[in-house]
Amino acid sequence: MKQVPMLNLKLEYEYMKRDIDSHVEKCFQHQNWILGPELKTLEQKIAEYLEVKHCIGVACGTDALLIALRTLAIKLNGREYFNTSDKIITTPFTFTATGDAILRAGATPVFVDIDPDTYNIDTSKIRECLSSNVPNNVVGILPVHLYGQSCNMDELRKIAKRYNLFIVEDSAQAFGARWQDKKVGSIGDAGAFSFFPSKNLGGFGDGGMIATNDGQIAEIARMLLKHGGKDKYNATHIGYNSRLDTIQAAILLAKLKYIDEFNDRRRRAAEVYTSTLSGISGLTCPKVFSDAYHIYHQYTIRVSASRRQEIQKVFTEEGICTSIYYPLPLHKMKAFKGRAIIAGRLEHTEKATQQVLNLPIGPLLCREEQSLVCKKLKEVC
Ligand SMILES: *Cc1c(COP(=O)(O)O)cnc(C)c1O
Repeated sequence: MKQVPMLNLKLEYEYMKRDIDSHVEKCFQHQNWILGPELKTLEQKIAEYLEVKHCIGVACGTDALLIALRTLAIKLNGREYFNTSDKIITTPFTFTATGDAILRAGATPVFVDIDPDTYNIDTSKIRECLSSNVPNNVVGILPVHLYGQSCNMDELRKIAKRYNLFIVEDSAQAFGARWQDKKVGSIGDAGAFSFFPSKNLGGFGDGGMIATNDGQIAEIARMLLKHGGKDKYNATHIGYNSRLDTIQAAILLAKLKYIDEFNDRRRRAAEVYTSTLSGISGLTCPKVFSDAYHIYHQYTIRVSASRRQEIQKVFTEEGICTSIYYPLPLHKMKAFKGRAIIAGRLEHTEKATQQVLNLPIGPLLCREEQSLVCKKLKEVC
């Protein structure tokens, strides 16, 4: 029986082994492990790729979010952290880190429902929330480009302008995704990326990056990631030890060359899924929007809760992996209880947590694996 993993990282390594090995080998030679030359090159290359002025490597995507937010607190208020009265609007249908970063930056998350077609934050609900004036003192928006599909950045920018809010884009799942002709993470005040191994651009361990066009944000972020000062022995701010390792940067430099090809391969695999599965009644495929160049970090179908359970049972027996991103919305987690505001009913979020199912997808997913997944799905549905 053939096993179909969610993502085959071993195959990806084999595919670019020579490139990766030669980059890593150079690190062994120079032994410059902390803030070494590969990191600088990676920051420059990614800045070119995203078409932003500054990129700053950090230890993980969570730190990219946290440091971006802390930087804004310092820049806008001259304070190290936000106050709990400062509110940041975000989606409850995301990875924990999104909301956690808001709490750790000192602010209060405001959870707004998602659009059931994209699973991204519903901008009309943000408008409702802001025009009702409850909650007051909203300072920013933290949208998440979930599954690799851009949020409606035109709307978000309009809202941000009207209400004088900052935007930090959680682009952890969307390296290379675009809104119209712009790469996500380059549109708001800052973008946060993750190089967690399973992300579209993944390292061999943790890693992250902040992208921004704002020189002041870049300057403060660079201080925060290395103990809060320009000089290591003279701190200006309450900082972190959150550097992106040279060796991770070297691996990412090698992998960056393949990102467009790999994102394109994911898109083609997604097309195969959609054309094969779209006839199945009671099964919804991801919707495609012309403004958003989707890079399918995940391929997410929607079925009834009971059918989802049935599919997972059969697939487990067949050795086909599936996952649920995410089974529990942030507002239902204990960590956020009493620390977040729920704006309106979060019905689409709650429904999505019960109905979404992520199928195996990756740049090197082969036709046979994909056919097996589709065949089994058709049998169950
Ligand atoms: C992966 C992820 C993060 C966190 O990134 P890490 O590198 O794991 O810290 C944040 N937000 C979203 C939406 C993610 O998928």
